[in-house]
Parts: sequence; structure tokens; C-alpha cells
Amino acid sequence: MSDEILSQVRMCAACPKMCRHVCPTFFAWRSDSPTPHGRALLIHFEGKGIRDLDERAIDVLYQCLECSHCLTWCKPEIDIASIVETKRREIVRKSCEPKEIRVLSEWVLKNHNPFNEPHKNRLSKLNIEVTDNPDILYFVGCTSSYRESEIANSTISVLNNLGYDVAVLEDEWCCGSPLFRTGSNTNALTQAENNVEHLNEHKAKQIIVSCPGCFRALTKDYPEHGFELNKPIFHISQFLDMHRDQLPSFDISYPITYHDPCHLGRHCGVYEEPRKVIEHISGKALHEMERTRDNAMCCGNGAGLRLMYPEKAKKIGHERVKQAKQTDSDLLLSSCPFCKNMLKQQAGESIEVLDLVEFVHKHQEDDN
Ligand code: SF4
Ligand code: SF4
Repeated sequence: MSDEILSQVRMCAACPKMCRHVCPTFFAWRSDSPTPHGRALLIHFEGKGIRDLDERAIDVLYQCLECSHCLTWCKPEIDIASIVETKRREIVRKSCEPKEIRVLSEWVLKNHNPFNEPHKNRLSKLNIEVTDNPDILYFVGCTSSYRESEIANSTISVLNNLGYDVAVLEDEWCCGSPLFRTGSNTNALTQAENNVEHLNEHKAKQIIVSCPGCFRALTKDYPEHGFELNKPIFHISQFLDMHRDQLPSFDISYPITYHDPCHLGRHCGVYEEPRKVIEHISGKALHEMERTRDNAMCCGNGAGLRLMYPEKAKKIGHERVKQAKQTDSDLLLSSCPFCKNMLKQQAGESIEVLDLVEFVHKHQEDDN
């Protein structure tokens, strides 16, 4: 660990630790270990030679969602999510990662998705027309390909309705986000190399993604590792906001609330664009949750937590749905296939959950 990180975790060890009250894993475990401070203390002790990173300590480092919520509360701006991720890389290099994380990395290497689905089925649920000169290259992402294909098909339809021809890569691989976040960088970079080669050689002029995890990987992780894309990349919420005047507007009577995905909001600073699109279509202001924008609670689905601790992840997702219902809204929107997947499962029939692009598509159809 660098001297800078060691000095940061030392500072964290002496802090009053108010950040833990927003840490979703403190909420899920109700214990001092899975907190920002608990993680910093383990790294501090290891750095000082007081305690090795044993199996229990490694578990605590893998209980972090890397949601970065603690950072918004930390006066000295200690970025626990990044420190945890750096430490995870070291753990993987020493082959000391939990078995589930090793298996995840093997699945992505073999089948190019974190669900261990056959790669040949990646495009099988997509309704897309092949055209000669597509304007937009849609990077679909694993969750929209295998688990939430209505988001992928809504994205294609919405873009077509806006007058754009859309293409997808014939051989898209996982963006690598689940591996970057869990420390398996070597295998993440293998995915990146394939994607960058194919994205760069494609003749479309711009890339659209619907997953904030892909958005962060393509715009931040790839360049940080020397992989540059030769076209602009937009998250679908940004692209829809740029085309707001072409979207229909209604006077929707029911209240709507919005959940900020961590990778889109805190990690990439995209807060206003999805809100402007929703408010344009609905004709009224959102019913905001108490914890919103950079203070939004994570849905519980990130950075390997659901894979390793599904019950804790669901407890966090359930709490976020409860916060949405406290706004008395009938509809909970997000702009992330991963968030939608978790929130919808936890909501059941209690509140409707949709992705932003499904909401836009539904109202484009109503307008016709
Ligand atoms: S992350 Fe920041 S606010 Fe939280 S305990 Fe450490 S120093 Fe304190
Ligand atoms: S990144 Fe999120 S889960 Fe991890 S310590 Fe900070 S608040 Fe907790």
C-alpha cells in the first residue's frame, strides 16, 4: 500500500466515524466491521504489522459495495471505495480472494458475462434490424442482454423512434466492471481489450450504454488503463436529455420517484439528466426520496455483494424500496439495469419499478 493510503487510513482510524450511518453494509450487518472505518482500521493494522489480512478481514473488505456514499460524508475526503478496490487487487494478486470472486472472474473470462450464461446467447433476445450505416453503436451490457432484455429492446426502439439507426457489436464482451470492482484486473483488461478493438473499428459515430457500470468502465476504467475509445460515449439518460424536445410530454397524474444509481451519480456525476427527462415526460416534479442524489442509498447490488451475501444485499434493496414508498409514489424509476433488477425483486407488487428507458418507450408508444 502506498504511503498516502496508509496515512489516510491512519486518519480514518481517529475519526468520529459519522459516515457509518449512511453505509449500507453497516445497515445490513449492524456491526462495526463492515463500515468505512472498520475497513480502514483493518488496512491500518496490516500496514503497521499489528494484524495480517486474515480470512475474516478479507471477508470484511469484500462486504463493501463500493457505493462511495461514505465519501460524501467524509470531511478529509478519504475514498474508502477506491482504497478497498486497491486492496482487493492486492488480495487477488496473492490468490487470497474468496472463492465466489475467483469463480466470477473465471465465468467472465470463459463466457464474457458474470451470470455464466453461454456467450452465444448474448444477442438472442434483442430485436434489432441490421442497417448499412448505423448512427449509434449500442453497447448492451450483460444485465440488459441476459436478465433485463426489455431494457435493451426499449433502448433500441427509443433510439429508432428518435430517428437513429442502431447497431450492436457482434462480439460484445462484458465491460469488465464486475471484475474491476472486485480486484480481478487482469481478466477485466482482457475484456476491455476485445471491446475497445471492436468498438474502435466500428463505423458508427457514437456509443450509447444503458448500464452505469458499463458507463464508468468505458469512460473511466478503460482510459485509466491506457484503452482509449475513438468515439464519444453517452449514458442513455444523457442522450435522452439532449433530445428532450423530441420526447412526448404528458400530464401524468400519479407521483413518480427516482433512485440514483451509484455508478451513474456519485461515480460519474450524472444526476440531473434523468430527472429532466422524467419531469419533461410526466409534466410534473418528481417526488424525491429523503436520501437522494449524492446522498442516495445504494440498491445493494454492487461490487460482488449480491454474489457473496445475497440476503444482506436484498435487505439493502428492500430498505431502498421502503424509502421509495415513503414518497407515496406509484412508480419507482432508475436508470440502471442492475438497480432495476434488485429493486423490482424487492418491491414485488408494492410499487411499480421501471428503468428510465422503459418509461420513455412506453410514453413514446402512447404518443403514437
Ligand atoms: S471514511 Fe472519513 S468520515 Fe468515515 S471514519 Fe474514515 S475519516 Fe471518518
Ligand atoms: S463504499 Fe459504501 S459500502 Fe463501502 S464503506 Fe463506503 S458507504 Fe460502506
